Amino acid sequence: LPIVVWFRDDLRVSDHPALTAAAATTAPVIAVYDLDEESPGLRPLGGAARWWLAGSLRALARDLRARGVILVLRRGPAARVIPDLVAETGAVEIVWNRRHDPAAAAVDEAVADALTARGIGVATFQASLLTEPDQLRTKAGGPFGVFTPFWRALLARPAPRAPLPAPTAMQGFDGVGSERLEDWRLEPTVPDWAAGLRAEWTPGETGAQDRLARFLDAGLAGYATLRDRPDRTNTSRLSPHLRFGEISPFQVWDAAMLARDTRRGGATAADIDKFLSELAWREFSYHLLAHTPDLATRNYQARFDAFPWRSDPDGLRAWQRGRTGYPIVDAGMRELWTTGWMHNRVRMVVASFLAKHLLIDWREGERWFWDTLVDADPANNAASWQWVAGSGADAAPYFRIFNPVLQGEKFDPDGAYVKQWLPALRGLPAKLVHRPFEATPDELRRAGVALGDTYPRPLVDHRAARERALAALAETRTS
Ligand code: FAD
Repeated sequence: LPIVVWFRDDLRVSDHPALTAAAATTAPVIAVYDLDEESPGLRPLGGAARWWLAGSLRALARDLRARGVILVLRRGPAARVIPDLVAETGAVEIVWNRRHDPAAAAVDEAVADALTARGIGVATFQASLLTEPDQLRTKAGGPFGVFTPFWRALLARPAPRAPLPAPTAMQGFDGVGSERLEDWRLEPTVPDWAAGLRAEWTPGETGAQDRLARFLDAGLAGYATLRDRPDRTNTSRLSPHLRFGEISPFQVWDAAMLARDTRRGGATAADIDKFLSELAWREFSYHLLAHTPDLATRNYQARFDAFPWRSDPDGLRAWQRGRTGYPIVDAGMRELWTTGWMHNRVRMVVASFLAKHLLIDWREGERWFWDTLVDADPANNAASWQWVAGSGADAAPYFRIFNPVLQGEKFDPDGAYVKQWLPALRGLPAKLVHRPFEATPDELRRAGVALGDTYPRPLVDHRAARERALAALAETRTS
């Protein structure tokens, strides 16, 4: 009798404990992916993530087929689809890797209860987080709300387990009907906005392993200092691969520790520590989400409920389109639109600009990112937006209002990043590229820039916007 492996945010075959467990039995293996956009609380994927999912499922199907197993595609609420599949195939056992988004975890629990009641064996595994939310507690016994003690507690635990190899040949199970991926319409047709995504990314496990190898060879050395530079390629770009589980944090951790021993790529211990701590921010976000299920919609700090957000549809649109008149902000928003990804430093700057310079509710930004990021993640996106807005756990101090000009000059000193995404500014010298509005008419003419025409004038004056934000924040502090 067959055993079912239910794939979700773990679209890989190596370091996949559920698949390994199934392969260790002698039973024929049925692999299933269910596109569930109906279960209560599950947030439908945004456009860029749907594009990614299509590529990822194609890659997974290929990798499973090479091992003798067919990936069965189904669509509908998991509480119906999964028990139906089990009944249809006569399976007596099902395995999956645990999810930690509370809405998804609730779905899993309902499925497990329904199956167990029918005598089906259910086994679940830890695969997506180095430490599951309940494994870490403060000394007082509660969840962590501050990163540094969380990180220390994570380091105090036994080292993460070694990653598992991919199972080799398995026995497949024929004759199970599958939906066709094309019928799910995950990818755009007309207009085809995904050309930039296709140029940048290779969804799937092989793409993930390639990214990791490239990063270890040529990005990790210098990470501790250069990770803040959007004009460099010193971050891993593993985020969408981690989001869809095409690579596990155990694999990334293990590879980084090995690089420490072998000094692969010339990385120092400081580079590796910094990288591992960033990986731990992902863990921290999931810890927060597990204990605060509405992290994407409700202020973590309730006093922000009184924050005087402005309604400004024009400002929001200008921000989304990369037309704020601040080059580092506009470059970031165009990188996001074109590639589905944005450098972390620039994410912080654009998020701060929306929430503080424009006083637009951070949830508007969170939603835009959710739709446009290939790595749109229920925990990381919500936690990061709240962190920048100041409403989050362990948030940036309320008075930290990024100056977009100084941020640009500090982290993109030659303007190479800005010029990549804003060709209109390519003629400007480095000293003006982050502040075109301060150029003289002569300097603009020489650079071929017509402010208000080829590039917008600033939407708000930095100094005035800063004063306005501080006043709004002061109101919240005393309320
Ligand atoms: P690297 O620097 O190579 O880091 C390795 C991995 O660690 C990342 O892939 C990611 O999984 C994790 N990581 C790194 N930085 C962070 C962080 N600050 N918080 C949580 N995890 C981190 N990340 C997402 O994965 N999905 C999101 O939807 C998302 N939304 C964000 C929204 C805002 C407003 C901000 C400021 C940050 C957001 N981040 C998000 C976090 C971070 O920007 C990205 O994880 C990072 O830029 C991914 O690039 P990388 O893989 O090259 O990172």
